Amino acid sequence: MTSESDAARIARHRPPSGMVSPRFSGPASFMRLPILDPAEAPGRIDIGLIGIPFDGATTNRPGARLGPRGVREASTGTRAINHATGIAPYELAACADLGDVPVNPIDVAETGRRIEAFHAPLAAAGIVPLSIGGDHFVTYPILRALGRDRPLGLVHIDAHSDTDDAQYGGTRLTHGTPFRRAIEDGRLDPTRAVQIGLRGSQDSRDELDWARGQGVRTIGMEEVLARGLPAVATEARAIVGAGPTYLSFDIDALDPAYAPGTGTPEIGGFTSREALSLVRAMAGLDLVGADLVEVAPPLDPSGITALAGATLAFEILCLLAQAVAARRGTIGRA
Ligand code: MN
Ligand code: MN
Repeated sequence: MTSESDAARIARHRPPSGMVSPRFSGPASFMRLPILDPAEAPGRIDIGLIGIPFDGATTNRPGARLGPRGVREASTGTRAINHATGIAPYELAACADLGDVPVNPIDVAETGRRIEAFHAPLAAAGIVPLSIGGDHFVTYPILRALGRDRPLGLVHIDAHSDTDDAQYGGTRLTHGTPFRRAIEDGRLDPTRAVQIGLRGSQDSRDELDWARGQGVRTIGMEEVLARGLPAVATEARAIVGAGPTYLSFDIDALDPAYAPGTGTPEIGGFTSREALSLVRAMAGLDLVGADLVEVAPPLDPSGITALAGATLAFEILCLLAQAVAARRGTIGRA
């Protein structure tokens, strides 16, 4: 594709200016992006925002099935240019809202197959997904689709490791197991995986012991506090290196003071400000996909959790747009 047609394609797939139609007007798509049938996405867009309204694998408080609705609504307030980095994602990449994965709210395994089937053809067409959950189970079938040809690196920001083997007497598909399943399936390279912000109490030692035994670098909140965010971010970047990498952000990484609307809150978390700077510090990685999960709007009538999720999703979108442009050769690597 020529750079001229890339420019035309990018110009057709971006939000309307908030200075022409107010940001509070119109139907609430992600970031006010055009809504596109995923079947028509190949060849047209570079980044697809995807809702996954599923919380059937939640082991604690439910509500994340309404995450995509809540984040879409809150995300209409985002503008086009990142004030801190100057990145304008809609100038770098053609973006669209591809709607929601058709989940089955009462069948985890079937929903997993549908999530994988939704993402696989997009990945094959080189479209980068930014998927909005949904509980954290949804990341496993996404990784099955994206890591099919080679295991991916992982930057995982969360209060929890989500590397349990099973919960409630042998249930292996839950929001506490996605990264263990993805490593077992060869979709993640555990030696290129880092988890940041872990804290709280555990049901067993096995969750963290297993992850560390595989080579996953687990960075607890105490270590973040002792060493500082810049040092932790630098180490995370070195761990995933230059290879293809996935970013997964669980909103419960934030302190419940900033994100109360989530199923498994843990005190002692990141401030919104810290979370934004941690995401921003991942600029220049070869990101092939990302998600933002566990926003549960019914647990937060104030809406600040969805606002945090939408704002972080824009920050992540900026990283993905940079990665798309770097792979195309439009901009150099950071
Ligand atoms: Mn999680
Ligand atoms: Mn979590």
